[in-house]
Amino acid sequence: STHLSDRIQNMSTSATLAMAAKARELRNQGKDIIGLSLGEPDFNIPDFIKEAAKQAIDDNYSSYTPVDGYAELKTAICNKFKRDNNLDYTPSQVVVSTGAKQSLFNVAMVILNPGEEVILPAPYWVSYSDIVKLTEGVPVEVKTSIDTDFKMTPEQLEAAITPKTRMLWFSSPCNPSGSVYSKSELEGLAQVLRKHPDIYVVSDEIYEHINFVGGHVSIAGIDGMYDRTITVNGVSKAFAMTGWRIGYIGAPEWIAKGCTKLQGQVTSGANAIAQRSVITALKAPVSKIQFMIDEFHQRRDLVLKLLGEIEGFKVNVPEGAFYVFPDVSSFFGKTLNGTVVNNASDFALYLLEHANVATVTGEAFGNPNCIRISYAASENELREAISRIAAAV
Ligand code: PLP
Repeated sequence: STHLSDRIQNMSTSATLAMAAKARELRNQGKDIIGLSLGEPDFNIPDFIKEAAKQAIDDNYSSYTPVDGYAELKTAICNKFKRDNNLDYTPSQVVVSTGAKQSLFNVAMVILNPGEEVILPAPYWVSYSDIVKLTEGVPVEVKTSIDTDFKMTPEQLEAAITPKTRMLWFSSPCNPSGSVYSKSELEGLAQVLRKHPDIYVVSDEIYEHINFVGGHVSIAGIDGMYDRTITVNGVSKAFAMTGWRIGYIGAPEWIAKGCTKLQGQVTSGANAIAQRSVITALKAPVSKIQFMIDEFHQRRDLVLKLLGEIEGFKVNVPEGAFYVFPDVSSFFGKTLNGTVVNNASDFALYLLEHANVATVTGEAFGNPNCIRISYAASENELREAISRIAAAV
């Protein structure tokens, strides 16, 4: 008989990818859909990185790579950690993977035993909870709201800790809220964690450069945290290299070794050409990608202004990443154009069908009051999309 494993049946399909598929379907029916559902920069990869990839092909980088990544790339990653984050990692603490998504999966596989709990400040990135469940861990959501800028307080962290807590996972800048934890906020969390030395922290810093307040802070650099933090990063967002699939970690050596062991049986090393090009990307000064950050900053301001003019949208001021996460709960229970909107999923679907704009329900991120709007789109598209949304509500 044909049946999928319980493991796969119990897994949810990525909501962001599902929304993108639905938008594609409507487009195929001839509808003019503006897609603001994907977390993907709309820029081309900078030319100097493309050149490095072409050179790598000509130089015959075609064999299997070391499972944990080329030595030269791992050294470039260590230098990047020092330069951007003031973190001292050695190459033996670094593992290169097929996207930060694989890095995260590796870490969960390597650290969690069945039934161990992972604290996820909500809203969190969609895949965290499913990765944790797939690896037989138990996600423990800590709800935050727009009133605390979607950040978890030390008191909330303390209250969520049980004898089974094994890890805390969070992203800053955050997907989906755009919130950035300041140094003093991270100090506050670290103060709680120092009392619980068995809890490990996954710090997902993939949006570090897309930060409009400056001063990205890595929790691994805070007193007592280095030996228990896995710093996750990658090139998808900062260098617009989503399809090239390179992510990496800096971590205690025993964790890095575990990830390499796992990867050695599952995927082997990440793509050779992509790895070679990332050496070049990471050696380049951040100023080379500043134009993208500036552009995102301008779009954020535009989107905040336009959404702010729509009655019923409550928006925080995201300090990083390229998303806004408006609270739309004031629409719940209302009938719009004959459609009853009871929750964020209804609302996102309503916008897709009546405004031809694809967003993502906050439910997928652990917050049922909000929707996520990606502003990785041109200014014209953003203006058009938001004016359609305004008309539809
Ligand atoms: N972490 C966060 C917070 C993300 O938003 C994403 C991509 O959307 C990833 C990790 C995965 O990135 P990658 O493309 O490197 O797998």
